[in-house]
Amino acid sequence: MPSNLDQLYRSVIMDHYKRPRNHGTLEGPDSMTISMNNPSCGDKIFVSLKLDGDKIVDIKTSGSGCAISQSSASMMTEAVKGLRIKDVDELSFDFSELVQGREHNDDLDLGDAEALQGVSQWPARIKCATLPWKAMEKCLREAVKLQAEQQ
Ligand code: ZN
Repeated sequence: MPSNLDQLYRSVIMDHYKRPRNHGTLEGPDSMTISMNNPSCGDKIFVSLKLDGDKIVDIKTSGSGCAISQSSASMMTEAVKGLRIKDVDELSFDFSELVQGREHNDDLDLGDAEALQGVSQWPARIKCATLPWKAMEKCLREAVKLQAEQQ
């Protein structure tokens, strides 16, 4: 990776770490909140989201841990907010491929989350980067169940 690109990615990651987007917890009976840990690094992520039909209309995260996990959570919220479940699943898979150093689909818009592609060079940190996405997927399944119960 050219060093100037590396530098750019580093500053994007630190920006999300210092000023997390969509930070907090959603309240209310129509939102779902779950937490997930990454014991190998000590990261903890809370994700809350709200569905309208099959679309994520609001999402917030909070938590504690390393810069990779916390910045990844912030980037993830920006990438999936407003998307339909089918597109979220596709994007989530694509992100997982990207951080494992496999080919990612250029047609999909990961936004700032692309800055985490360098993580593929540090296998121990891959779980830090994917934790918020896994937590979001788990929260999404629970939110679908909640929605079905409320109908
Ligand atoms: Zn971590």
